[in-house]
Amino acid sequence: MKIDFNEKVTAFHRAFSDENKCLKLLADLKWEQGFVCRKCGHTNYCKGKSPYSRRCTRCKAEESVTAHTVFHHCKIPMNKALEIAFLICIKPDISSYEISKRIDLRHMTCYSFQKKIINCRDSSINNKLLKKVIASLNSTVNATLN
Ligand SMILES: [Zn+2]
Repeated sequence: MKIDFNEKVTAFHRAFSDENKCLKLLADLKWEQGFVCRKCGHTNYCKGKSPYSRRCTRCKAEESVTAHTVFHHCKIPMNKALEIAFLICIKPDISSYEISKRIDLRHMTCYSFQKKIINCRDSSINNKLLKKVIASLNSTVNATLN
């Protein structure tokens, strides 16, 4: 049986409506292989100031969960940012107008973020984390539908 688009979107909302949960997902995938400080290479960390950020216990450099990812400087709440990535994945020809209507954000905001996601996805260097994120969103959503 083919699962339709709206069912997937509903399942996504059920699983990922909470922004903190989305930040945690990103943190888990970003540091899947463990934390390494970008400044000094140290691998011990403590909690940083912003949610799910990590602070190096040696040089005190803090890295946010979105730093060095496609979600950096993204003004969109993480659950909505992930929803945009998910929508693009399950409906590749989706328009930025439809995204804007579905997630209730300004069209220009959706347009530029959609472009950013697509550029990242199609880049062979920077797309690893995004691929992992999308795979994880998909498997969670599919698990609730099967
Ligand atoms: Zn450090």
